[in-house]
Amino acid sequence: KKMRKNIVAGNWKMNMTLAEGMALANELNEILAKEKPNCDVVIGTPFIHLASVAAAIDTNMIGVAAQNCADKESGAYTGEVSAAMVASTGAKYVILGHSERRAYYHETAEILKEKVKLALANGLTPIFCIGEVLEEREAGKQNEVVYSQLAGSLYDLSVEDFSKIVLAYEPVWAIGTGKTATAEQAQEIHAYIRSTIVEKYGQEIADNTSILYGGSCKASNAKELFANPDVDGGLIGGASLKAADFKGIIDAFN
Ligand code: PEP
Repeated sequence: KKMRKNIVAGNWKMNMTLAEGMALANELNEILAKEKPNCDVVIGTPFIHLASVAAAIDTNMIGVAAQNCADKESGAYTGEVSAAMVASTGAKYVILGHSERRAYYHETAEILKEKVKLALANGLTPIFCIGEVLEEREAGKQNEVVYSQLAGSLYDLSVEDFSKIVLAYEPVWAIGTGKTATAEQAQEIHAYIRSTIVEKYGQEIADNTSILYGGSCKASNAKELFANPDVDGGLIGGASLKAADFKGIIDAFN
C-alpha cells in the first residue's frame, strides 16, 4: 500500500465574495464532518477569505490554501501578500506556479523558486503546479517541459525541503476547457515526474511525494484518473465551486 497522501484540493481562483466563500466553506465543513473523507481535503481561497475561512472550519479536516504568495519576505511591495501573512491566517498550504500565474503574471522559474523557499520557511506546504501547453504536447515535448519546470524551481531544494512539496500536474490545454487528459496520459507523465524525483532525491522521497492531476477533473472522471498508481488526487478548479461537485470528486476515494 502506498504511503503518500491522497489529496483533493480546490482552487477557487478569483471567484466568490467573502460571504459566498464562507457559505461554501461552511457547507463543505458540514458535509465532511458527517461523512469523513478518505483523502486529505484542501480549499484554495482568495487571500481575503483565508482568515475567516480558517477560523470557521475544522482545519484538521479541511486544509486552507492561498493561491499565491509574494516572492519577497516583507517591506515596500504594495499589494503583495507574504508567505508569513498567509501562514498567520491559519492557512497551511499555498498553490504556487499555477499556469494562470505563469502566463498572465509572468511568473518565471526564478520567481517561483523564491516563493517556494519563502513558503517553506514559513511552514506552508507548497502545491507546486507544472504542465505543458497544447503546442508542447502536440510536439511531444511534455516531459521536457515539466522537467524544466521542476528543475528550474524545485530541484535545488534540500531533501528535507523537497519532501514537503506537493506537486500538481496540470496540462494547460485541459484547464477550464472541459478537455481532460486520458487516464493513460496522466499516468504516463505522472510516472515520468516520479522517475525524475527518484533520480534527484531517491526512491523513498519519490514514493512519498503526492502528485495531483488537474485539468477539467470532475466527479464523472475522477475515479478513473485517481485509480492510476501515480495519480494521488486532484487539483480542482471549476468543480470546486459547488460543495456537491467537490464532494463528488472527494468520493472518488471511497
Ligand atoms: C486549475 O486551474 O487548477 C484547474 C484544474 O481548473 P479546472 O478544474 O477548472 O480545469
